Amino acid sequence: MVKQDLSGLDILITSGPTQEAIDPVRYISNHSSGKMGYALAYEALKRNANVKVISGPVSLSYPSKANVVQVISALEMYNEVMSSYKDFDIIIMAAAVADYRCANIRDQKIKKNNESLVLELVKNPDIAKEIGKIKENRLLIGFSAETNDVILNATGKLNSKNMDMIIANDVTVENSGFGSNNNIITILRKDKCIKYPLLTKKEVSKYIIDEIMDLFFKR
Ligand code: C5P
Repeated sequence: MVKQDLSGLDILITSGPTQEAIDPVRYISNHSSGKMGYALAYEALKRNANVKVISGPVSLSYPSKANVVQVISALEMYNEVMSSYKDFDIIIMAAAVADYRCANIRDQKIKKNNESLVLELVKNPDIAKEIGKIKENRLLIGFSAETNDVILNATGKLNSKNMDMIIANDVTVENSGFGSNNNIITILRKDKCIKYPLLTKKEVSKYIIDEIMDLFFKR
């Protein structure tokens, strides 16, 4: 039986995309809407957990009972996670963090005088991987949005980032994933793999929190 009341538990959730500035008016980002992370925050709050959301730029209303910290870039998200993770029992990384940022952010708007433009990109820190190295007995949960070899790729990330659980989804499935209200997921733990049908993100969040609680209370 999964414990429903999460009173006293502190849960940290990263959510949404990050935006990496190119110049004062342009940025690099991705299609993440933040809906999955926010659905998880609402579900955890409903079960009385204390929730902090570190959110990239999204156009959603914030869960009012959560402590929501807004960030823009991957480096800002990294700094915010690093300075607060110690206060949490469970860390859910639902953000779609941009893998690269511009090596030099221009002070002025780039003019379109040339036929081509080369931007030098440098790798952002992998927040989940860094937390995986120092998490001690905290639970670390991640997401794996894939276009191919979904289970293989997700299993690789579960292991390489020292996660306790990863939620894999195939973003090529219609009416699911990025921006959609629905998701078709597979939950992978070290001891089991559960496939779900197409569900709303609200429904999916219930199953995810159930599985996290099962792991947490069985430790
Ligand atoms: O991008 P990738 O598929 O490797 O993401 C897997 C997990 O790692 C996700 O939970 C994501 O939030 C996290 N991640 C992160 N920092 C990055 C890249 C990914 O926290 N720079």
